[in-house]
Amino acid sequence: MKRLHWMVLLVAVLAAGIMAGCSDAKAPTQPPAPAADASAAQPQAEVWTCPMHPEVKEAKAGICPKCKMALVKAEPKGK
Ligand SMILES: [Zn+2]
Repeated sequence: MKRLHWMVLLVAVLAAGIMAGCSDAKAPTQPPAPAADASAAQPQAEVWTCPMHPEVKEAKAGICPKCKMALVKAEPKGK
């Protein structure tokens, strides 16, 4: 099962890289709270995205489905 071994190694390396990136960047220290009520009262005109995965876009606060990081509100790029 050499291929499986390589897959495990690859995943471990990727995970280590993500962890390093998270600690390097100014990571939010808030715990990944599951769906808080605080965001329920907010309008849905905003976009929440993952610092590590810009392709992730959610209508409300939450966690990234890929790396479980807390989503951050994407500021519209003013021109
Ligand atoms: Zn992510």
